[in-house]
Amino acid sequence: MTSPVDSSMTPQARAYETMRTQGLRFTSQRKTITEVAFGNREHFSAESLLARSRRRNPKVSRATVYRTLAFLVRAGLLRQVDLGQSSPLYDPNFAEHPRHGHFVCVDCRKIIEFHDHCLDVRESIVTKDHGFSPRRVSLQIEATCDALREKGTCPQSTRAVRPRPKK
Ligand SMILES: [Zn+2]
Ligand SMILES: [Zn+2]
Repeated sequence: MTSPVDSSMTPQARAYETMRTQGLRFTSQRKTITEVAFGNREHFSAESLLARSRRRNPKVSRATVYRTLAFLVRAGLLRQVDLGQSSPLYDPNFAEHPRHGHFVCVDCRKIIEFHDHCLDVRESIVTKDHGFSPRRVSLQIEATCDALREKGTCPQSTRAVRPRPKK
């Protein structure tokens, strides 16, 4: 679960280092996939990672994307999150921000991350009261985004976006 490598390194560098220490061959496919996964802070599906990786490196295969994702999740660098989208998303931000939560717009499914220190304290009190020590906490709040609240509709409503062909 935890990786033995230096946690002050970027998640991307930690991914490379973990691959190296575990004897995983560092192929151009894995490099592209890892670069794209940690290239920005967006949450992504396996299929969108495949599409974006292929734009950079047409040789990237679906099987390698899924295997690399599983590896990065096991290494604790990515986390799979269910934010109510049509397919599970991968979150590249837990490696650097292990205690963040998500607001998700009920209409356009826009995701905003937040971190609340008061919540950390409450969580630890509540879990201790019940004899537990928190290992992994994730809070998700379904909400209306500003656009939905003000205009009654979101610029990027799922109704327009969702029917994406899946192969
Ligand atoms: Zn997140
Ligand atoms: Zn919205």
